[in-house]
Amino acid sequence: MINFHPTGEQLTLFAEGALSPEESVLVSAHVDMCEWCRDELQQKTELLAAKVFHLNEPVLRQHKLDSMFEGITSSSAYFTQSSLPYSQHSQYIHLDGMRFQLPRTLRKYALKAGGWSYLAGKTWQTAIDFNSSWQASFMYLEKGGHIPEHQYVGKAYWLIIDGELSEGRKVHKKGDFVAIKEEASKTPVCNAEQGCLVFTVLEKPVVFSTGLTNLLNPSSHLYF
Ligand SMILES: [Zn+2]
Repeated sequence: MINFHPTGEQLTLFAEGALSPEESVLVSAHVDMCEWCRDELQQKTELLAAKVFHLNEPVLRQHKLDSMFEGITSSSAYFTQSSLPYSQHSQYIHLDGMRFQLPRTLRKYALKAGGWSYLAGKTWQTAIDFNSSWQASFMYLEKGGHIPEHQYVGKAYWLIIDGELSEGRKVHKKGDFVAIKEEASKTPVCNAEQGCLVFTVLEKPVVFSTGLTNLLNPSSHLYF
């Protein structure tokens, strides 16, 4: 069960196309995985449509709403649209014999991943070309994997694609959308047997108290 969702305000901004392109990718990928947010978004889209068309009640024909909703969830922002032919999308991302199914929004990034790097502490990372000053990557923690304490200086998000990631007594599970507060410090660990695959997006590089500047900041792993 998914316990962490975008806020109502984030969903509204997403429906309006007013979120930043980078955040739109995260929200869209979460919506792919979360029925509850899909319903919320559909309601917001209907209200928005009613407003746009100066109607008091959402009385647009259902098929119009459906196609509008489909348009929003598949490509809310220009950023989530892909110029790649569909054959260059991949439903899965692979690591060391393992295969993880990706939410629809992230499939176009599977083949743009830059190759996995082993970081430390049973943790792997592959940066993706996000075409932005923001940095994005997939991170995989084996069971027992952990990331040393680090601090966030800009906006940052995690989307749990598979497995579980723990922070103290909090456990983030598959589908959880984790908005990280600016200046928050984190020391996540993975206690799950199957490990944890996380999609991370950072507005600014994270800062490690231990001087491991390259760790987690995916631009340091980009070789193309
Ligand atoms: Zn949700």
